[in-house]
Amino acid sequence: MVSPVTVMITGAAGQIGYALAPQVCRGAMLGPDTPIILHLLDIAPAETALKGVAMELVDAAYPLVKKIVATVNLEEACKGVDVAVMVGGFPRGPGMERKDVMAKNVAIYKGQASALQEHASPDVKVVVVANPANTNALILSNYAPKIPKENVTCLTRLDHNRALGQVSERTGVPVSDVKNCIIWGNHSSTQYPDVNHATAGGKSVRELVNDDEYLNGEFVTTVQQRGAAIIAARKFSSALSAASSVCDHVRDWVHGTPEGTWTSMGVISPGGDAGYGVEAGLMYSFPVTCAGGKWSIVQGLAIDDRSRSLMDATAAELKEEKTMAEELIAA
Ligand code: NDP
Repeated sequence: MVSPVTVMITGAAGQIGYALAPQVCRGAMLGPDTPIILHLLDIAPAETALKGVAMELVDAAYPLVKKIVATVNLEEACKGVDVAVMVGGFPRGPGMERKDVMAKNVAIYKGQASALQEHASPDVKVVVVANPANTNALILSNYAPKIPKENVTCLTRLDHNRALGQVSERTGVPVSDVKNCIIWGNHSSTQYPDVNHATAGGKSVRELVNDDEYLNGEFVTTVQQRGAAIIAARKFSSALSAASSVCDHVRDWVHGTPEGTWTSMGVISPGGDAGYGVEAGLMYSFPVTCAGGKWSIVQGLAIDDRSRSLMDATAAELKEEKTMAEELIAA
């Protein structure tokens, strides 16, 4: 009998939360045999909506779900948590500057860090979704020093999956046979979706597509701007695919990446060659493999000059965000 795993979702009454909770309860995150204790957290103004989500989850009668806690109390929500999915965050409203959103969210993530390290399981695995995801994760990690640094990550799996999807659409190869795209850097429009090491149906994507102008241009901008394209088409943000990619991120982290494939995750850069020259301590998306519940950055990939400059540009943005966040916290 497998022991239940306690999963917390913050911002659980929001769009992504609503799409994510049922996927977790169905076993998409931790597998069909792992019982789930689900902790749903939101802020007081969303309390009624949160109760509504919990009611629907009860009504769905998921066999894997052993208990649902829906609360606006941060400490209660963090208690005994094994996997924390941090979706809650202040959205960027009309007329808001990036700095205004950053100020709101770094304060939230600094506050949640201490509750997590005090009340969650000591080896809690954390994935931050709320934007600016990389910098929120970095702040959380810095203010929760008892949580091992490698246990705090941010989500770039949606961007990774978008890249796989675009290659599949272009080549006609089913997405399950497209492998080893990479998202480098920030979960923002400076991210660098890289196909230099990717394969489709076992063949090099560069050779199969045979159109560098497309792969270096339209492909990159399509992946970078996919979120905006979905909002334009649907009038709502991409909650379904975001939720699905959260499940992929945690599943691969816990159960391992399939043999011969890697994924992309925002993780703390070790600096030096092991971190592809990205400054140590930045929360940067790298190609990683996972085994035994741990991720490792894929080593030794050849980086051409074009990739280098794109990787450096997104690192520069992260460095600027980090400085801004530190200044906002100090103010
Ligand atoms: P969503 O559920 O749509 O999004 C939540 C967060 O995820 C946002 O920061 C959003 O960034 C980010 N995000 C990352 N990737 C994606 C993606 N691909 N598509 C969409 N969003 C993405 O927002 P809602 O407003 O519906 O829900 C937010 C919840 O958080 C609410 O329930 C609210 O009550 C709660 N909240 C919690 C706070 C706290 O914990 N203190 C503070 C404020 C709100 P972006 O805004 O850039 O789209």
